[in-house]
Amino acid sequence: MVEVLAGAPLSWDQLVQWVDLIPDGVLVVNQQGVVVCANTAIQDISGHAGDALVGEPLSQLLPPQARAGHDRHLQRFFDMPDLRPMGRVADLSLCRSDGQAVPVDISLGLFRLGGERMALAVVRDVSQLRALHAKAEYLAMHDELTGLYSRYMFTELLTQAVVQALRSERPLALLLVDLDDFKSVNDGHGHHVGDQLLREVAQRMRGVLREGDVLARLGGDEFAVLLRDQGSVPATLTVVEKLVVAIGQPWRSGNHDISPGASIGVVFAPGDGGSGDVLLRRADIAMYRAKEAGRGTYLVYDAQMAQHMEERAQLQGRLKRALQADALRLHFQPQVCARSGRVVGVEALLRWTDPELGEVSPARFVPVAESCGLIQPLGDWVLDSACQQIVRWQAQGLALRVAVNISTHQLRQPRFALRLEELLAQWQVPPALLELEITESAAMSNGEQARELLERVAALGVRLALDDFGMGYSSLGHLRQMPVQRLKIDRSFVQGVMQDEQDAVLTRAVIGLAKTLGKTVVAEGVEDEAQRAFLQREGCDELQGWLFSRAVPAEQVPALLRQLEQQASQDWLVSSY
Ligand code: C2E
Ligand code: MG
Ligand code: MG
Repeated sequence: MVEVLAGAPLSWDQLVQWVDLIPDGVLVVNQQGVVVCANTAIQDISGHAGDALVGEPLSQLLPPQARAGHDRHLQRFFDMPDLRPMGRVADLSLCRSDGQAVPVDISLGLFRLGGERMALAVVRDVSQLRALHAKAEYLAMHDELTGLYSRYMFTELLTQAVVQALRSERPLALLLVDLDDFKSVNDGHGHHVGDQLLREVAQRMRGVLREGDVLARLGGDEFAVLLRDQGSVPATLTVVEKLVVAIGQPWRSGNHDISPGASIGVVFAPGDGGSGDVLLRRADIAMYRAKEAGRGTYLVYDAQMAQHMEERAQLQGRLKRALQADALRLHFQPQVCARSGRVVGVEALLRWTDPELGEVSPARFVPVAESCGLIQPLGDWVLDSACQQIVRWQAQGLALRVAVNISTHQLRQPRFALRLEELLAQWQVPPALLELEITESAAMSNGEQARELLERVAALGVRLALDDFGMGYSSLGHLRQMPVQRLKIDRSFVQGVMQDEQDAVLTRAVIGLAKTLGKTVVAEGVEDEAQRAFLQREGCDELQGWLFSRAVPAEQVPALLRQLEQQASQDWLVSSY
């Protein structure tokens, strides 16, 4: 029991002076529950002037629901007084003069004044503190931008759901959703538009999901979905498909048209893992594979994927070392004029022989380099080497145009055009002897930004070709505006021209289109005479393929050219008789 009884007795005036010094509200209440003293600070909290409270029952300061039982509590306190510091009782509030509840914390004590026992209450306004707490709690659980759950909250809910799924034997599905090419939206249209797109995607996903499904933004452009009680895999996949479609709807921001897309990795628990961590990792692997499979799609995890990822990581390491050790080479494949058979240029193709893996195809390692950032140094090495080779051949009296493949990722580099200019100047390369091959999809998907870059490249006098043409979805309008001189018909169509009527029709159409737009058309992958004859007949301008030669090391190019020239003159003699 605590009573302030020791020392000299306190006078009433002294008490009033003292309590006024205290920055928190102070109330002195007698055993009848009547306020006998209140300090100035209580007015800020309660809205009642301290003086006006004196002589009034304390209960008017209590929230209505607490008034009925208050007398009893007060009596118990006087009978069994206990010093109560701040922070003991949660969720206390005080009723302001305007009827509003103010969250407060209250400490209590008891003392004797002139023979009468008094309760002393120190009242602290904690509204700001509570608001701050609530905000901190909200931020920990939610993503501020989209209002969806945060990574922290999602992993908590996932952990609980996995335990439940194991217990109830009702599987759950976890989806990891990553937006495709989100970086180019941010880079091309600004972060403000990127943020808007994230909000839009959140809303679209919410629209597909049911009330009880958990949706979170894990960070950046990555979202996660938790679906409980997923008894049927096809039913789950229907939801996933709906998400892919909903996210992929065109979106307009100001006067920019954006085509969003997402790649989704799907795992099921407990089948694919018995803990949140494992499930998230595997969903991530499946999502990566979906990206590789062409984006805008989903894949369900399987064990082979993990093995593939491991191989990839290994390939990455080896490629990095090869690049550092200057172990990569460029080979060159001739492109010939369809009419005269004369060589008009060569395409530079990367070659890599790993001591253990043997020869690794660029079709395999270029995507790996793209996914791990190695494509920048690799692409730079290719451009640099090609420029040097052009000059070396020139010194031998060979003015040979060299086509270099450029990855989408290189095109996104803001410094790309500048670097190109630098290299041309450094090696004194006549720009017309350099051609850049850009895949149709890369040129089209980056829209405005890609076009601007291509304009800058074209302004340098460097030529441009659209590679793998026919695989993408070029709009005619776009194509007309692109500063490209050549279209390269994709190998897959060329190889089908003799067997597949559709391939023949498409090849014919591409040649017609190129003529209409005033562009040169090159067929790649020409392997036999029948294909050559078809392409010549249809008016294709240039041909490239094993029929003429595979890609060979730079040293062999002069001899190869002589041989092809000779062949051409013989063929020309034959065909002109
Ligand atoms: P691409 O640019 O379409 O290159 C043509 C591919 O077709 C080359 O494959 C070439 O060797 C192959 N090819 C040529 N003629 C024939 C033929 O008659 N029949 C068949 N079946 N194939 C033929 P390669 O060298 O394996 O390159 C594959 C792809 O890798 C290239 O396709 C290109 O997209 C990429 N690539 C190659 N080198 C580079 C590079 O330096 N940088 C970048 N970013 N990508 C490169
Ligand atoms: Mg190419
Ligand atoms: Mg190609």
